[in-house]
Amino acid sequence: MKIVMAAAECAPFAKAGGLADVIGALPLELVKLGHEVQVIIPKYSLIHERYQEQFRKVEVHSFEFKEKTATYTMHELIKHGVQFLFLENDSYFERDSIYGPDDAERYAFFTRAVLDFLARSETAPDVVHVHDWHTAVLPFLLKEDPHYQQLSSRVKTVLTIHNIQFQGNFSKSVFLEQYRMDESFYDNGQVEWHGNFNSLKTGILYADKLTTVSPNYRDEILTEAYGEGLQHLLGEREADLQGILNGIDTNAYDPQGDEHIAQTFSAGDLQGKQANKRAIQKRCGLPEQADVPLLTMISRLSGQKGIDVLEQTLLEFLEGDVQFVLLGSGEARFEEFFQRLEVDYAGKVSVHLGFDESFAHQLYAGADIFLMPSHFEPCGLSQLISMRYGTIPVANRTGGLRDTVEEYDEVQTTGTGFLSDFKAGVHFDEALSRALSFYHQPEHWKALIRNGMKRDSSWSRSAKEYEQLYASLN
Ligand code: ADP
Repeated sequence: MKIVMAAAECAPFAKAGGLADVIGALPLELVKLGHEVQVIIPKYSLIHERYQEQFRKVEVHSFEFKEKTATYTMHELIKHGVQFLFLENDSYFERDSIYGPDDAERYAFFTRAVLDFLARSETAPDVVHVHDWHTAVLPFLLKEDPHYQQLSSRVKTVLTIHNIQFQGNFSKSVFLEQYRMDESFYDNGQVEWHGNFNSLKTGILYADKLTTVSPNYRDEILTEAYGEGLQHLLGEREADLQGILNGIDTNAYDPQGDEHIAQTFSAGDLQGKQANKRAIQKRCGLPEQADVPLLTMISRLSGQKGIDVLEQTLLEFLEGDVQFVLLGSGEARFEEFFQRLEVDYAGKVSVHLGFDESFAHQLYAGADIFLMPSHFEPCGLSQLISMRYGTIPVANRTGGLRDTVEEYDEVQTTGTGFLSDFKAGVHFDEALSRALSFYHQPEHWKALIRNGMKRDSSWSRSAKEYEQLYASLN
């Protein structure tokens, strides 16, 4: 099959979160299964020079956008058999950050340009797979805009919801001005949702199939507690909604070959993990103590991630013998909390605000425990990466965390982490206490590390599920 993915992020080129990890990894696995895969993302100027140097300009085209002629240039980079395409338009993507205040217009342009590009391609893809709200309007345009009639008769669409909280909600005028489709689509409710133009809702209505990133989150978003208002609409499409668990790129996250970390290691030889811990302590100005548990969190700092819970927990546990390193950025109130914590617990806490891929790898490798008290978590990749590096996740039992972290069983010595369950009244403190009690019992701790490192978090199984889904469309 010829599969096209269109998304806002793709690792390692442009990453803000887990979406990028998925777009950077799943296509490689689909190519291994014998498919032809094209990935299209905007050519943001923040894409590192070392990649941009390898770009090859392939096509330049113009089309009507907002009553004007807009031009885009496609650049190509082929990696592991995947054709990555970078869509350039300086007025929209020549920025220092991936996202910005005018995203409605930027991704409307991107979506239109992707369709323009596909309509000009010699061979139509079998499947166009779009991701999150940024490209969710594509299935609607494909089906309802007569411009794409020919393409539409041959192409099927899949929409993956990576996080239903982000819906791309804008005013009616955004719909009319950016997409220039008939007003009746808004007035009759195809693209309208509670008085706004809703990009994700539009995709949910129009994509041939819907997926989300874990089986448990799939069930959750059909309920009022997690559906963010779209649960009934999803309910109407329940038969077309599948939960496919995310994997991780096991080459990019490989403790035995990771170039970012101080010393490589494996489940059979954990000496290197200690060296990574020392390297983190040194870099962060923390006492280089091997037997003090080093806790970490690498995250967007948003309400979803349970920072409110962590605030309480950290204040309690930092009175004891633990160290904590944070890498993250996001809401000012959370950033300020962590900055204060670093001052109040000098010598125990180290806070790094910002996005740093290399440092993230070092922390995954060097920490003992990864904290993830999420209120909801579509899949979560951090716990998968942690386990692969022998760092034990302490997480809340929700979404994909429930599908991927198995509570440690001290009798069978099975399991990979420790779980709170906010809905059932099991607090995060209890899960962390339990984790720390085993930290001081080396045999149990080694079993936990080994169980996590041996867990198969690769894409191979899930890529086959996507393959079956695509095949079912044609
Ligand atoms: P989400 O997509 O909700 O942000 P995930 O757990 O699915 O959460 O994926 C987060 C990804 O982003 C992981 O690869 C994590 O390591 C990475 N990440 C998050 N924050 C940072 C940061 N500040 N610096 C580097 N990597 C980060």
